Amino acid sequence: MDQIECVVVGAGVVGLAVARALAVAGHEVMVLEAASGIGTGTSSRNSEVIHAGIYYPQNSLKAQLCVRGNRLLYAYCAERGIGHSRCGKLLVATAPEQVAQLQGIKARAELNGVTDLQLLSAEQACAMESALTCHAAIFSPSTGIVDSHALMLSLQGDIENAGGMVVLNSPLAHADCSAAGIALTTTDGTQLLAQRVVNAAGLQAPALAAQFAGLVPQHVPRAWFAKGNYFTLAGRAPFSHLVYPVPQVAGLGVHLTLDLGGQAKFGPDVQWVDSPDDLSVDPARGDAFYAAVRKYWPALEDGALIAGYAGIRPKICGPGQPDRDFVIQGPAEHGVAGLINLFGIESPGLTSALAIGEFVVSKSS
Ligand SMILES: Cc1cc2nc3c(=O)[nH]c(=O)nc-3n(C[C@H](O)[C@H](O)[C@H](O)COP(=O)(O)OP(=O)(O)OC[C@H]3O[C@@H](n4cnc5c(N)ncnc54)[C@H](O)[C@@H]3O)c2cc1C
Repeated sequence: MDQIECVVVGAGVVGLAVARALAVAGHEVMVLEAASGIGTGTSSRNSEVIHAGIYYPQNSLKAQLCVRGNRLLYAYCAERGIGHSRCGKLLVATAPEQVAQLQGIKARAELNGVTDLQLLSAEQACAMESALTCHAAIFSPSTGIVDSHALMLSLQGDIENAGGMVVLNSPLAHADCSAAGIALTTTDGTQLLAQRVVNAAGLQAPALAAQFAGLVPQHVPRAWFAKGNYFTLAGRAPFSHLVYPVPQVAGLGVHLTLDLGGQAKFGPDVQWVDSPDDLSVDPARGDAFYAAVRKYWPALEDGALIAGYAGIRPKICGPGQPDRDFVIQGPAEHGVAGLINLFGIESPGLTSALAIGEFVVSKSS
């Protein structure tokens, strides 16, 4: 059986960032990807927002890795010429009772080290975005957007320049954990013995972990799937900042994001689904989008929203359950030498990717 030091399973933005961090730290790395290209999963189906780290509980991995990841990502994009924009975001109170919530959101953000938020009156917010209607707002200058595909290509380039490789069309089917290492078997029967394996299979991470003989099942959380649908705007949006409502259960609310070309999209909403493959967007959901968006942009015209795309959040908590933090499980947690499982890497996973890479390297040494 061929032997290798590290295998990362999954070539989404997180798997690629982890593999890059391992390769740059001098480790021998192979990325095994089931699909025929990199980044075809959730990493291609998100808002491409570089989050500031505002909402997450103090000291949570989401808070720490998002704040660190935000800084690392801006620096990396600038260094590599990856398309990005520090366009800033307005978090808007669309009902009088939400105004008091903004103060709490700002206080929580400060506990996370996000100290650049500015409370704005309705007049100040509307001076920044004349089409906006709100009762008050927070401005986050360190929120931005990134070209996630250019980012992933750059990460792949770094892996390969450091001597690593990304192997496509290679779904991992099964693993046997023993004192000799972790024996991996792909669906075509290829076998490899790795000293370290990082399970970065996104939506499939819990199902894949269940195929690791030697990993006690109690360490594998149940997977839940929360689809987020997007609707795109026909024509140009009269906004130059991202606009978010006050967060809601299981998501950040139907927000307005812009791409680097200035095209606007709205979403994601939250639709619990049974399958991680259910990526269709039901145009009938548009009615709820009009209602949600008109709370902050009343001039949105009938017929302006077009069913777009959907992404699925890799949840490890179900409907009505309290939100969970990222789970990054190593030998200290599950007792299997060399294995790291990444579970529940939903938003802000894109923002946090480089910091997750650092974190996994520190956990592997
Ligand atoms: C609707 C939505 C909006 C979001 N918006 C944002 C945002 O604006 N900002 C932000 O920071 N985050 C955002 N996120 C979160 C972010 O997109 C994810 O955290 C991130 O993309 C996860 O990357 P990943 O590499 O873990 O997973 P994925 O991108 O899903 O990659 C996993 C890879 O593993 C592969 N794989 C699966 N099983 C196997 C196997 N057995 N063998 C080999 N390969 C396998 C898959 O083919 C896939 O390529 C959003 C998420 C959603 C759903």
